[in-house]
Amino acid sequence: MANAAIVGINWGDEGKGRMVDLLTQDYDVVIRYQGGGNAGHTVINEYGKFALHLLPSGIFRKRVVNILGNGVALDPENLWLEIEEVVRKGVPITPENLKISDRASLLLPWHRALDGLEEARLADKKFGSTKQGIAPFYSDKYQKKTILAGELLYPEHLKEHLQDLMEWKNLTLTKVYGAQPVTMAELEGWIDHYCAKIKPFICDTGVFLRDAQKAGKNILFEAQLGALRDLDYGIHPYTTSSNAIAAYAPVGSGLPSAKVGEVIGVVKAYSTCVGEGPFVCELFGPEADALREAGFEYGAKTGRPRRVGPIDIVATRYGVQVQAATNIALTKLDVLSYLDKIPVCAHYKMGETITDEFPFPAVLGSAQPVIEYMDGWKCDISGIRSWDDLPEAARKYVEYIEAQIGCHIGYVSVGPERDSIIIR
Ligand code: GDP
Repeated sequence: MANAAIVGINWGDEGKGRMVDLLTQDYDVVIRYQGGGNAGHTVINEYGKFALHLLPSGIFRKRVVNILGNGVALDPENLWLEIEEVVRKGVPITPENLKISDRASLLLPWHRALDGLEEARLADKKFGSTKQGIAPFYSDKYQKKTILAGELLYPEHLKEHLQDLMEWKNLTLTKVYGAQPVTMAELEGWIDHYCAKIKPFICDTGVFLRDAQKAGKNILFEAQLGALRDLDYGIHPYTTSSNAIAAYAPVGSGLPSAKVGEVIGVVKAYSTCVGEGPFVCELFGPEADALREAGFEYGAKTGRPRRVGPIDIVATRYGVQVQAATNIALTKLDVLSYLDKIPVCAHYKMGETITDEFPFPAVLGSAQPVIEYMDGWKCDISGIRSWDDLPEAARKYVEYIEAQIGCHIGYVSVGPERDSIIIR
């Protein structure tokens, strides 16, 4: 069986967590390879309902080893709180089923503070950061001005390194933002309280993964957010600060030699977007409210109401190409059951020109949606488990999307529960 990546094709929140939770039954290792605790994967299974932020979604499967790769923004505080919450609901988490790469960089206490300070400085020009410190973290990572998780295993070295970084960062905090400096006593408190808790999980995951590869284990790579939020290929500057695309999975996972044979792209049956930035297919008013309510579109991390719209064929086709998706999981088809006519954003209009190419970010805001309508099916499809049992209008909707985006839709999800899935 080939290694696989599960990635978002759109703006994130497509239902990746639900798909990873389903598919982990066939895999031995699940790796989160990028991003931090700034978004959430919602998973519903026999243990209850979870909003996972950093933990890989394979954590619920008994025989799966879960790894936080070197590409993630490792926030010890949030990770520990998340571990506690999941353990409280009866899911065992031990160094046997969770391993943290010693090469993952740590999100430090000042990263979150800096995020808030910068958003406040930007005022009405803000990017809609979730204020989890992700952008300051990744900029420091690429400046080599943060700490590797493995350094927690060398306390004397760690203190010296932190002291140097703190002196440097306090210049920015106090002189640029006029904020309070961080003290070594605060940092020591953070080390003793949160870092000490995650220390037992830290190891050389490269050794583990190379052995797993040699033993023929099946590996699943799990992404956060979607193609349109990718740092290099997304809607810059309204992207995240890491690479969410499948091509980054081998690098960020700690197994650079890995071949990703299958890329499962998750697409929502309509569009949602959190935060600022151009969102060409956006609906407003009662139409938007009805769709938001039907899909319960509120952020898993922030609770913010999501912006909503019909499926955007232009953006989705681009996302499929950027992800090099080999198979698509179409989620939340059941949510559209209330509509008489289902709008789709079939093309964009740039000035007088109709285009199917996703525009350069700087001009994306001037694109207008070209909306077409398809027949609705107007009945509850959440109990359906086979393709042939879907109403004809629902099948036509799926087939239309498949033809337009140029990739097979192998999974159709009709509910949030693990088994609410139609496999084609
Ligand atoms: P992720 O970050 O990509 O995992 O997505 P989110 O967790 O933010 O959003 C997906 C939401 O939709 C979660 O609340 C899921 O439980 C829910 N969900 C996923 N698939 C389906 C589906 O097919 N139908 C319905 N009604 N809800 C779904």
